[in-house]
Amino acid sequence: MPQRIICKSCGHILYESVEFVYPGEVINSYGGVCPSCRSKILFNADDARIELKPAQKHRIS
Ligand SMILES: [Zn+2]
Repeated sequence: MPQRIICKSCGHILYESVEFVYPGEVINSYGGVCPSCRSKILFNADDARIELKPAQKHRIS
């Protein structure tokens, strides 16, 4: 099943392949930020959605 990793901020395709790759490896290859818009890399696979956010607690107002 194709795997696609795109930046949700600008839509830049960071990785696309029919072969599975461990998301962490792609993150590391980009230093954790989108090379196009410098946003945090977020993942959006065809069959799953994984969002990676900085390790911080949600604020509940
Ligand atoms: Zn981007």
